[in-house]
Amino acid sequence: MSNDIKIEVIRDSKPVDIRKDIVKYKAYTLFNYKTLPQIKNLSEEELFNIDVVGKVLPFKSNNYVVDELIDWNNYKNDPLFILTFPQKSMLKTNHFNKIADLIRNCADNEKINDEVNKIRLELNPHPGGQMEQNVPVFKGKRLSGIQHKYKETMLIFPRQGQTCHAYCTFCFRWPQFLNEKKFKFHTEDVNIIIEYLKANPQITNILFTGGDPMVMSASVLSRYIEPILDLNLKNLVSIRIGTKALSYWPYKFFGDKDSDELINLFLKIKKTRKHLAIMAHFNHTNELRTKAVRRAIHTIRETGAQIRTQSPLLKHINDDAKTWSDMLREQVKRGIIPYYMFLPRDTGAQHYFSVPLVKAWEIYKDACKDVSGLSKTLRGPVMSCTPGKVQVLGVANVHNEKVISLKMLQGRNSEWTNHPFFAEFNPKAIWFDDLKPAFGEKKFFFQDL
Ligand SMILES: *Cc1c(COP(=O)(O)O)cnc(C)c1O
Ligand code: SF4
Repeated sequence: MSNDIKIEVIRDSKPVDIRKDIVKYKAYTLFNYKTLPQIKNLSEEELFNIDVVGKVLPFKSNNYVVDELIDWNNYKNDPLFILTFPQKSMLKTNHFNKIADLIRNCADNEKINDEVNKIRLELNPHPGGQMEQNVPVFKGKRLSGIQHKYKETMLIFPRQGQTCHAYCTFCFRWPQFLNEKKFKFHTEDVNIIIEYLKANPQITNILFTGGDPMVMSASVLSRYIEPILDLNLKNLVSIRIGTKALSYWPYKFFGDKDSDELINLFLKIKKTRKHLAIMAHFNHTNELRTKAVRRAIHTIRETGAQIRTQSPLLKHINDDAKTWSDMLREQVKRGIIPYYMFLPRDTGAQHYFSVPLVKAWEIYKDACKDVSGLSKTLRGPVMSCTPGKVQVLGVANVHNEKVISLKMLQGRNSEWTNHPFFAEFNPKAIWFDDLKPAFGEKKFFFQDL
């Protein structure tokens, strides 16, 4: 044991020749993925399926994911392949057939796009009342690109951060990546962000999100962060950055041309005595195994920034307890704090990825059996829905009635926080909307009738 630990420390702190590690980013999309040498394993039919689904839902992978994360000998079941390459069943059969027929009949692009847009609108592009209820109105103006649902936390969607190094096939923010203005929201008005922060001293933390803010160059990111640091707001304690770059492009943190500048920005945040929290997305242990990701994690942690993780529980990718307990152990071993296990939101390809709430709870429960308390900072399974974040606590028997026990982790109304409540047992329910109040009640405690 102690030998293992020693070896690791030595390896991590040895000076490394960065030049050897430089890998140039290259994206793969519908337009060029067939040039991948690995793709020769796929049948004509599989390639056609990618073309069809990729027309409706955004598709992007990259050379790191393809060369270092996907196991091409077993791609059909490989979690990272399923995570970034479109899968046939992600579209419902009627949607799939419509687009497939148009392509087979060589329909013109306009016709295909019309159909694609119709289907997208049927996929609930903006779940959870995001557009109607989370966007603040300030001095008579809707602040598109800011969301403020929970009192203490303000979300910022910086304009240049609304893409990702690769796209997750499950992504609930998928409309952000389309060439359709009406689907998108973002801001680049730092002055408005500052005015809003000054006017709302209850905000203790801001969360840069997207897309992935870590696609922005260090200098662009500084343009958002430095003016906020300069304000010296007492109430603002933490800056969070939501990112999947550790998983999809770890070279962002040590090999890219502006990596040093980025790390300096992190150090600058530390100097102001604010905390930097990297909210990292990891969906599978395989994302934590490469040398590059381990080095990136180490580099970030050296700046004093904290890394917390979140992931949805996804059928075909991580819907078993062992995958989760492995992932939790690996995270804690790397000094990372597990944070949220989400359930896939009611949008896009939810039907493909979702598991029933009851099954999700069993996976969570079983995963926790095999790990120490340091991993149990993971809260799950959690649904981020219109009234707030709802945790499935489990199945219980109350006076001979089988119920699902739930907790409002945090509500749109902060008075609801940590309030327990009960739903009728329903082993098929995959989302909050499928649940009915237990004990013959007409409504849940937070609902108006
Ligand atoms: C999840 C979420 C947050 C952050 O919630 P925490 O529990 O503080 O991590 C903030 N705003 C919105 C809209 C969210 O969905
Ligand atoms: S990294 Fe995040 S925002 Fe980007 S595609 Fe994946 S889930 Fe969506």
